[in-house]
Amino acid sequence: MDADTQTKTVNIILLGPPGAGKGTQARMLEEKFGLIQLSTGDLLRAAVASGTEAGKTAETVMKSGGLVSDEIVLAILKDRLAEDDVKSGVILDGFPRTVAQAEALDVLLEESGQIIDSAISLEVDDEAMVERISGRFTCGSCGEGYHDSFKTPAKEGVCDNCGEGSFKRRADDNAETVRARLVAYHEQTAPLITYYDNKRSLSRCDAMANIDEVASSLKTLVERVLS
Ligand code: AMP
Repeated sequence: MDADTQTKTVNIILLGPPGAGKGTQARMLEEKFGLIQLSTGDLLRAAVASGTEAGKTAETVMKSGGLVSDEIVLAILKDRLAEDDVKSGVILDGFPRTVAQAEALDVLLEESGQIIDSAISLEVDDEAMVERISGRFTCGSCGEGYHDSFKTPAKEGVCDNCGEGSFKRRADDNAETVRARLVAYHEQTAPLITYYDNKRSLSRCDAMANIDEVASSLKTLVERVLS
């Protein structure tokens, strides 16, 4: 955390198709502003890894590139939002993904007098997303993100951030599943852009630029929300 660490409660949503950079940018905002990143994809992968009933059901759907049921996702999110570290607000990455989830989130936040302060749409081209996703991998120890073409570790096989040497690729980051995930995005998630626009809480960000340029645009948008 640094001098920009926020003190007021803010809830921010990063919207955008798979590969738009939501996770990477959410982690950068987390570090910059002291907000907590909350990724339903990460929560679901943890449920899959621990073999819970919800995890078993979610696993098949995630492999196909479809969306896990609102019931499962909302239950997992509700548990996470009840924890103390998120009381000052969150950066939601990968949630909501349907209008029903957005409505349920509004109700959930209202219970504690909170709102969605800003929904930021990361705007990208679909075709570029397939290349972006197919080449990405992360450090198995600290989660730092890399890409075969755009961001390789400075020393091959060693994480720049933590110095460890085990990397992993997501099971659903193959071209076929990515295309299914893009279809799910356009059919079920893109309507959220209108949902938040109608609530006057939508901002748009050109996410085809490089990681640092996108981070700089997002920093300006978040500073505006915090001011
Ligand atoms: P992500 O890590 O956000 O790319 O999510 C990976 C996969 O988890 C998605 O393709 C979905 O199958 C599932 N998933 C993550 N978040 C949600 C959500 N909010 N609603 C439904 N499914 C989700």
